[in-house]
Amino acid sequence: MDETGKGKGETGKVIPARYQPPLPLDRLLLPVGAPGAGDHMELDVLIVGAGPAGLACAIELAHLARREHGDVNIGVLEKAEALGEHCLSGAVVNPRAFRELFPDLKDADFPFRGPVTKERVAFLTSRRAFTLPTPPTMHNAGNYVASLCEIVRWLGERAAALGVNVFTGFPAASLLVDGRRVAGVRTAATGLDREGRPLSNYMAPNDLTAKVTALAEGTRGSLSQAWLEWQAVTSENPQIYALGVKEIWETKRPLDTIVHTLGWPVPTDAFGGSFMYPLEPNLVALGLVVGLDYRNAALDVHDLLQQMTLHPLFRQYLEGGEMVEWGAKTIPEGGYYAVPARRSGDGVVILGDSAGFVDVPSLKGIHYAIQSGILAARAIHAGLKAGDASAAPLAEYDRSVNASFIMKDLFRTRNMRLAFKDGFYAGGVKAALMTLTGGRFPGGKIPMEPDGEVERTLTPGASPGITPDGRLTFSKVDGVFKSGNATRDTIPVHLVIGKDVPVAVAEFYARMCPAGVYEVAQGALRVNAPNCVDCKATDVLGPRWTPREGGSGPKYKRM
Ligand SMILES: Cc1cc2nc3c(=O)[nH]c(=O)nc-3n(C[C@H](O)[C@H](O)[C@H](O)COP(=O)(O)OP(=O)(O)OC[C@H]3O[C@@H](n4cnc5c(N)ncnc54)[C@H](O)[C@@H]3O)c2cc1C
Ligand code: SF4
Repeated sequence: MDETGKGKGETGKVIPARYQPPLPLDRLLLPVGAPGAGDHMELDVLIVGAGPAGLACAIELAHLARREHGDVNIGVLEKAEALGEHCLSGAVVNPRAFRELFPDLKDADFPFRGPVTKERVAFLTSRRAFTLPTPPTMHNAGNYVASLCEIVRWLGERAAALGVNVFTGFPAASLLVDGRRVAGVRTAATGLDREGRPLSNYMAPNDLTAKVTALAEGTRGSLSQAWLEWQAVTSENPQIYALGVKEIWETKRPLDTIVHTLGWPVPTDAFGGSFMYPLEPNLVALGLVVGLDYRNAALDVHDLLQQMTLHPLFRQYLEGGEMVEWGAKTIPEGGYYAVPARRSGDGVVILGDSAGFVDVPSLKGIHYAIQSGILAARAIHAGLKAGDASAAPLAEYDRSVNASFIMKDLFRTRNMRLAFKDGFYAGGVKAALMTLTGGRFPGGKIPMEPDGEVERTLTPGASPGITPDGRLTFSKVDGVFKSGNATRDTIPVHLVIGKDVPVAVAEFYARMCPAGVYEVAQGALRVNAPNCVDCKATDVLGPRWTPREGGSGPKYKRM
């Protein structure tokens, strides 16, 4: 039976890629000087995305310019209304790249909440938790618990103090190109009604041109994807993703240990696990991460997280407390083999999650993002000094990343996440052998298919759903409220939806989206676009996500 053949609560097959529209390259790539822009600004270096990668790049460039008494005009564009509001992580942070970016500071000066003092890895069944020996990749001694929002606000202050122009509330909507060269970006217009007609507060998009544009959009970057596709840059495996849904809780009972779990409630044919970190003894970050190659089309990561909060391991901390923040984001999980062969070209570099610099076995990406920003800054600086921002000097960025701990770490764990495509138990055994052999077993590369190509079965009841009680468990609408999302209701739909989406696929979207953007009403797909929290899962498996009016989306504070 196919997508259209599901009837009377029976199973149906869903292959999401069949209903996914192509990347809208006509919107994402524009010739420089294309009509329609309001203001125009010229910079030396333009950075898209004020996450750890983008801000580290800006800071290192400003440091290098100062050291040599030079003057580099650097601008950072961020789509969130204020710094950090669209950033979400775990997070346990490896301080290594912070030390390199700020050699004069001590760990105690960084915006971390505290060192990891105790750690526990547990295997869960629906009622019990069995402590496991901590795998080497999950050892966190020497690392720090932190909030990415706080890190980003702190980095933003440092960048601004060094003279970097940080423009918040300005999403880059298109790459401006000139032949094969990236010449800058065009921002998204604001003040359009649902049909795309200008309102009284309409502001035309702005063009920002620069000698070099650094794309640091984070996971599933739209402009990065457009550039890679346009320049036909490939990777050995397609990039794959996981979706993380996270809550912050004020708890009655203090937590002093970072906890990672495997097993329940993630089905055995999916890859995933949970984390629980103390930001303060009574302020706990709780999250569940599930690979988007899951096989059951009824799986719902938000629902699974709600079920999880009822498990005795978590409940003992959460009971009587308050869920104060909620959010979601995808993580690039493909690792070494999914990193694009080239992350630089004429006038452009790609950093951080947009390039796939994440080590999944250790759930780490922040220090790789920062390191990629540092290395990009050095290559850009050398190019600008030589008066050349073409592909040749920027290729030094690729060489230095390849020689750095980023690619060494990713190489060591190159097949570990990929091994789980055959399910939890087979994957667990293979991953253990890979750990023992330093990544040499089984040799070669485990081939993957894009998440959208994975066939799923819609088995009703597989993700049983919960009736939220508003104390320990919450609906998606409650979650969106707690994300601080205050997107204008009358905004144009920023999601590009495929034609003739069958009901089974619409139901799959409704479960896949953690923010309740998709609903099935009267046998058809209904889209509540303003609910979107920019997690990008839809862009991996369903309708395409495109940048929308600045300041839309969540307003995370401590994610
Ligand atoms: C649930 C979860 C748990 C994680 N846990 C950990 C952990 O414990 N430790 C760890 O090290 N890593 C962890 N990671 C990974 C880590 O958060 C990322 O690797 C890291 O944030 C990547 O940094 P980045 O700068 O590349 O992207 P981001 O942090 O995503 O920043 C990108 C920025 O670009 C902005 N942006 C995007 N598109 C545009 C546009 N078109 N125009 C303007 N602005 C734009 C975004 O709003 C955002 O502010 C986790 C990730 C998730 C989702
Ligand atoms: S619409 Fe897509 S990007 Fe937005 S919250 Fe839902 S899954 Fe995430």
